[in-house]
Amino acid sequence: MSKHHHHHSLLPTLTLLLLLSLLSISPTNQEQEEEQNTPITRFQQYLRINTAHPNPDYGSAVSFLTNIAQTIPTLKIQTLYFAPNKPLLLLTWPGSNPSLSSILLNSHLDSVPAEPSKWVHHPFSAHLSADGKIFARGAQDDKCIVVQCLEAIKELHNVFAFVPLRTVHMSFVPDEEIGGFDGMAKFVESKEFKELNVGFVLDEGQASTSDEFRVIYADRLPWHMVIRARGTPGHGSRLYDNSAMENLMKSIEVMTKFRENQFDIVKAGWAATSEVISVNPVYLKAGIPSPTVRFQAILVYCGIEIYSVVLLALNLILVVCWSMLELLFLKLVCLNDWSYD
Ligand SMILES: [Zn+2]
Repeated sequence: MSKHHHHHSLLPTLTLLLLLSLLSISPTNQEQEEEQNTPITRFQQYLRINTAHPNPDYGSAVSFLTNIAQTIPTLKIQTLYFAPNKPLLLLTWPGSNPSLSSILLNSHLDSVPAEPSKWVHHPFSAHLSADGKIFARGAQDDKCIVVQCLEAIKELHNVFAFVPLRTVHMSFVPDEEIGGFDGMAKFVESKEFKELNVGFVLDEGQASTSDEFRVIYADRLPWHMVIRARGTPGHGSRLYDNSAMENLMKSIEVMTKFRENQFDIVKAGWAATSEVISVNPVYLKAGIPSPTVRFQAILVYCGIEIYSVVLLALNLILVVCWSMLELLFLKLVCLNDWSYD
């Protein structure tokens, strides 16, 4: 923003100089105030609220969004609880014909964890770089959507006095990143949800650097899987078949090849990322990491994230891929659950 309010060369006397410098304080302050309260700064403020797992600060997030919502007089604001300390913020923008089914815009309050030491800028500082990039956990997934929806409605209502035909609801749900069991899952079963008479839902999407946004009809479903490989334990010096580690690595190899094939299809331009099956190993829990204890483990694990449109077809593929491997157990477990046995 320009800050050239001074034209000192035009001032002949000290009095005038003083007067003008006093006058120049006022627009500068106004400008600073404006700088502190724009859609961008509101976005940054929201990003500074740490709603990352495992301890998302839902209370601060909801009160921050409520404050913005209160600047849009027509909005009806409700905070619903389907589990203790897990608020769901529901905003309603009344339409001119309430008998029609409504539109629901959904997004989530939480985000995945961040490790500050691995970040160029602290993940909750919402640092704005000179080239206009904002660094923060949750910026794209999906706090930008939250702020965009609110700012758009604010503009449409407060500036253009626009009244939608259908009622528009906005839900900001907790726990989406950990399965949504205490959020969306309970919300859709509630009487509050049924009373909304929802006809169309637009859920979170992908961030865009331009004014064009992709709309995806059916997003992929997640499958959080853990490979548990069992094998014969033994001294680190011994060579034998069917160690747990060997079995695990064989299955990871198969999975990696499958992953490569899927990714090749995308790289060749034959399909979009959303149309293939994403398979990614996300953690390993195997053996005893010690310089002295060198023992071949009896049980080892690998956590795998699978995203696919059609889980049934995926299931078949995996059964074929992994049926060749012996002593291998596939098991569905919850995220972060270490008690696999
Ligand atoms: Zn998301």
